[in-house]
Amino acid sequence: MELKKLAVWFITGSQHLYGEETLKQVAEHSQVIVKALNASSQIPVEIVYKPTVTTPEEIYNVMMAANAEKNVIGIVAWMHTFSPAKMWINGLKILQKPLLHLHTQFNRDIPWDKIDMDFMNLNQSAHGDREFGFIVSRLRRNRKVVVGHWQDEATLQSIDAWARAAAGWHDWQGARFVRFGDNMRYVAVTDGDKVEAEYKFGYAVNTHGIGDLVKLINEVDDAAVNTLMQEYEDRYLLAAPLRKGGAQRQSLYDAAKIELGLKHFLEAGNIKGFSDTFEDLHGMVQLPGIAAQRLMKAGYGFAGEGDWKTAALVRAMKVMGSGLPGGNSFMEDYTYHFDPSNQLVLGSHMLEICESIAEGKPSCEVHPLGIGGKADPVRLVFNSAAGPGLNASIIDMGNRFRLLVNEVEAVKATEALPHLPVARVLWKPYPDMKTGCAAWILAGGAHHTCYSQNLTAEHLEDFADMADIEFALIGKDTRLSQFKNELRWSEVYYQLHK
Ligand code: MN
Repeated sequence: MELKKLAVWFITGSQHLYGEETLKQVAEHSQVIVKALNASSQIPVEIVYKPTVTTPEEIYNVMMAANAEKNVIGIVAWMHTFSPAKMWINGLKILQKPLLHLHTQFNRDIPWDKIDMDFMNLNQSAHGDREFGFIVSRLRRNRKVVVGHWQDEATLQSIDAWARAAAGWHDWQGARFVRFGDNMRYVAVTDGDKVEAEYKFGYAVNTHGIGDLVKLINEVDDAAVNTLMQEYEDRYLLAAPLRKGGAQRQSLYDAAKIELGLKHFLEAGNIKGFSDTFEDLHGMVQLPGIAAQRLMKAGYGFAGEGDWKTAALVRAMKVMGSGLPGGNSFMEDYTYHFDPSNQLVLGSHMLEICESIAEGKPSCEVHPLGIGGKADPVRLVFNSAAGPGLNASIIDMGNRFRLLVNEVEAVKATEALPHLPVARVLWKPYPDMKTGCAAWILAGGAHHTCYSQNLTAEHLEDFADMADIEFALIGKDTRLSQFKNELRWSEVYYQLHK
């Protein structure tokens, strides 16, 4: 996904009190900053300079235009000078896109020898931005406030995180996700209010009977299947039974056909992600394994067992992580290692872990699947790299959605796991195994998550603010008693926050 095709408008606020000369300098400085942001490899989107706004009409008009412009994913606002903030009320009232308030100053340092009142009048964001901050708070509008000099690395990183979150948010607006079959029977956390989700998140989730997909799978032609099988041979270490002349070569053929049918279905419907369930595979030969793994790598959202919320989250996180090293995958906390000296979670799924988090060349294997009653599905098996990561989950609490994040440290698998026929990740939850798992369970976090190697809690907190939903973080500083209080307080807050 090309984030550079997306734009953020850089809007500088001022007023006419200072005279033309000052306004000219304000405009020049803003252009220098915009140029520098665009020159920085840290900023993933295009920053577009907008002329300084000095009246309520100009502010209203630029917000209106930002709403209407399809590739604009958000607004950066900065008050170089003082911009009386009543002027901003009507503009902010109609702004429908994410807002970042950049609290910066053109000069990094105070010029001790030269500073005079002209300098003071020009460089007054220290209080100009406070006036702006008041009105945004007064209007109860979510925004990110980034403080620091515009050339400072940490400032750029914070803008980067917000811009990536805004790209994910933008991608959700009007997005379509498909649920093949319904929810895995009786499962609670994967279900939820799709009407509220469409209102809150902007994406639609619709069901298709598995027969609609089977029809497209059956229409895939042999030549395309053979080409894809060749790609499997080139990219992966093919297990002996799947090779030409192997006993289960037909399984590879069937898997490739499923991948192509799924791809055609998603492309034809302009669909950004999907979920399926092993309880509804009528007419399909296998549960999609390698197909889901590869389609996720290609950027589609996916989650198993009808879990549309996680499928949509996987998609958004893939957009946010575009171009960064590492990947994002559907994940499930599968099983534990409770050795007191080395406590670990083994994350995996029945089949569908995204190839983007693979370390080294995956092996392509076929094994029986204990549930679902279908033929042995083909899957990619691999380990994942050590390093910082996180798990994120969106759950429906009935009166609100909650985005829950647990920071983790992935560790290298030191054992060979010769009988485990699925891709896997080993991690240590922060702040520690006991606290991390207890906090997750108390917060009602799903067993399904999006596991990320390249996003941080900052990306997801910004994203939750854009969606105006609850954000709960389990990280290095989490203490269980404090976390339980946060959940209690949020409960009250969201009763009032409608
Ligand atoms: Mn599952």
